[in-house]
Amino acid sequence: MILQLVKFKCGNCKSEFKAPQLKTGVYAEFLLRSQNRGDVAYLDAMDDKTYDEVSKYLKGNSKLTGKSANQMAAILQKSYGAIACDPDAFGNVYQIDASPVCPSCQSQTMEYWEVIEPPEFVESIVSSVTHRAWSLLSDDEKTEKVDQVLSDLGY
Ligand SMILES: [Zn+2]
Repeated sequence: MILQLVKFKCGNCKSEFKAPQLKTGVYAEFLLRSQNRGDVAYLDAMDDKTYDEVSKYLKGNSKLTGKSANQMAAILQKSYGAIACDPDAFGNVYQIDASPVCPSCQSQTMEYWEVIEPPEFVESIVSSVTHRAWSLLSDDEKTEKVDQVLSDLGY
């Protein structure tokens, strides 16, 4: 797939580097990155029914009662990878829109990012997220998994 290069500035060592993102303006498509390694995976939320499924479980969780639609959307993006997606080859969870790993110091905390003008693109092979572990859970286990991830995120 064609990805757009974005300039990142590392929040730790302040070095600048380029890393790929989805092209601006795409709807219901997401690039995920894994914690610690920054491996990328792709999600088409229109095509992949687990995105709506996780949204329903979040809406049913009492920790999130009273959250606005915008807050719920942000929580869904933050928690979805840890809830429903298989981790990378080293067991690190994926997160939608997580930052890449700084090539200089391996930090994953960025000070800022900006689109490069004029736009630069790269052709890249990105695997779609998979849901082997999630798909094996019962309804009760899914409810429990959602609640656990929310606790881990501080909700
Ligand atoms: Zn750095």
